Amino acid sequence: MSDFLTHPDLRFHENGQTSFQGDLLKLFRLLDASFLRIASQFNANEHRFPIFIPAKELQKVHYLSSFPHLATFPVTLDSDAKNLETFSNSEPLSSGGEVKLTKIAPIKDLLTPAACYHFYVHHQGSTLTGPLYLTTRARCFRREAYYAPLERQWSFHMREIVCVGTSDEVQAFLETCRKRVEEFIAGLGLKIEWLIATDPFFNPSKNPKFLMQKLQPNKTEMVFDGKLAIGSVNFHRNYFGEAFAIQKSGQEAYSGCVAFGVERWMAAIIRQFGPGKRTWPGALAKEIL
Ligand code: AMP
Ligand code: ZN
Repeated sequence: MSDFLTHPDLRFHENGQTSFQGDLLKLFRLLDASFLRIASQFNANEHRFPIFIPAKELQKVHYLSSFPHLATFPVTLDSDAKNLETFSNSEPLSSGGEVKLTKIAPIKDLLTPAACYHFYVHHQGSTLTGPLYLTTRARCFRREAYYAPLERQWSFHMREIVCVGTSDEVQAFLETCRKRVEEFIAGLGLKIEWLIATDPFFNPSKNPKFLMQKLQPNKTEMVFDGKLAIGSVNFHRNYFGEAFAIQKSGQEAYSGCVAFGVERWMAAIIRQFGPGKRTWPGALAKEIL
């Protein structure tokens, strides 16, 4: 079962995305229901956000400078009538399938690169009276050097559970949430190791934020089979609180998140337990019954 391309319920597209149906869609829903059950133990408030996020918001945390290689932008043609006419009258596609763009309109947005950014934008400028527990599932976009079905996609689903509060509140949340995730993983019997990691910075050796993460690790990944990170636990300290002016108890708020890459969890389940629901762990099936 190493080649997902042959799974009858999966179609992998050349542009680094997959469609799925049947048992695989069921697996997607079972997994997300399990993550939501963990979120509900914190009474996390669920949000649904748009696909775009303003570049000027992300740049408050230097996203474009730190991760330019991952960014995906929504592009439109400049709406000038002449420009549109030129575009439509010439052959708009090359023989290799590339769109021959004429003048493009200014780009002010990115396609969401990680789910939790939306929360810091949403709460910016606010003063919190108690800790926030939040959850959302977003379709996320990351340009990668190559793509593989479920395991490395241009667009994929990320479920996050987030806490914004004091340092103690956030650290207690991350500890408890990690325990809940460990219990879930143990119930499944999934082979996971927890490993310290760093974010994939552009030009890491020159990026002070990368060096900082090396010195003071703040990311732990759930790694399947020694190589596939299916999720992460992240302590941001007051980095987002400062960038988005979120106050808690007279100081910039702290934050942390637990992120699940839903397609990668699907890949791990299929690799370990097989392609069909009959051999998946019972602990999964009971989630939505
Ligand atoms: P991160 O914010 O980098 O910790 O990402 C959270 C989770 O998203 C990772 O642990 C992966 O499970 C998942 N993920 C990240 N990039 C991709 C990708 N290109 N394709 C599929 N899943 C991904
Ligand atoms: Zn996050």
